[in-house]
Amino acid sequence: MNYRGHGIALFSGGLDSSLAILLVMKQNIRVTALSFVTHFGCDFSDRSSCSRDPYPVARQFGFEVKLVHLAEQFVEIVRNPKYGHGKNMNPCIDCRILMLREAKKFMELVGADFIFTGEVVGQRPMSQYKPQLHVVERDAGLKGKLVRPLSARLLPPTEPELSGLLDRDRLENISGRSRRRQMELAAQFGLTDYPNPAGGCLLTDVGYSRRLKDLLYHCPKVDFRDLNLLRVGRHFRLDDRCKVIVGRNEAENIEIEKLRRPEDLMFEARETGSPLVLLVGTPDEAAIRLAAGITARYCDLKRAADVNITYGRNEADIQMIAVPPAEDLLLETIRL
Ligand code: SF4
Repeated sequence: MNYRGHGIALFSGGLDSSLAILLVMKQNIRVTALSFVTHFGCDFSDRSSCSRDPYPVARQFGFEVKLVHLAEQFVEIVRNPKYGHGKNMNPCIDCRILMLREAKKFMELVGADFIFTGEVVGQRPMSQYKPQLHVVERDAGLKGKLVRPLSARLLPPTEPELSGLLDRDRLENISGRSRRRQMELAAQFGLTDYPNPAGGCLLTDVGYSRRLKDLLYHCPKVDFRDLNLLRVGRHFRLDDRCKVIVGRNEAENIEIEKLRRPEDLMFEARETGSPLVLLVGTPDEAAIRLAAGITARYCDLKRAADVNITYGRNEADIQMIAVPPAEDLLLETIRL
């Protein structure tokens, strides 16, 4: 096929980024879509709220999708974002800049002409107000090369529009939170399978953000096992050196077992129904006793005066301790 040019899309699998791609493809432009994967779930890999499996729409309309994992550099941005966090730990502006910088490298590598996104002016509080859109474009080093097809006619013309590669009149002028025009466009394109608009990745979740903040505060160097543990169970900070994770059901117990490292202590009330409880860090005797008390509190003998709790790093290292269940009042104060 003889294309007029090549555009690189930021693609979440949601309605807006899908429509942006379809608007650009309609102008006989080849599209390569980049889907970004992070440890915080705003990607199709775990079907979290703001993204979904991108492939059905790509298959339906015939464009190529490439995955890009942002890995450690994204964690650093979450820890210390230049433009700050949103309501929770979400550094949306820095996140967009990072994604666009990666997209720029890819554009240069493959010799594409421009980058585009499904952003809509005024739609999201932190990253999609007009001044922020300019900041993002500037900091990503994409001045003039970043097109927002859904709001293009409300923004200054970009290089591909000025050169005639893209017909500005066939791009949109959508702004704000209403999705009415997007629905119309979806119907025109025959795009029926798209997700409801959503709030964002795990970093927009209050509870997850609280646990993450605690982790970043206590660990100068975060590893991905610890990040993955934040998604599972009840978390309790025992002291500066250790914390406890309690499985809430069978599935979480299995997950905790998988994420366990040889140096972690595992607690269990083997004489009754019990959660798996993981103690991460370097505990002293008081912390071990408290972790045992927490295990007792969440096992089926939580009203007993004392419960026998087994703990150890492996079966060869098992020890037993009899403790009363931890008081709810105390747990409230140390729960993350
Ligand atoms: S919600 Fe914000 S921080 Fe999370 S992936 Fe989306 S833009 Fe990035």
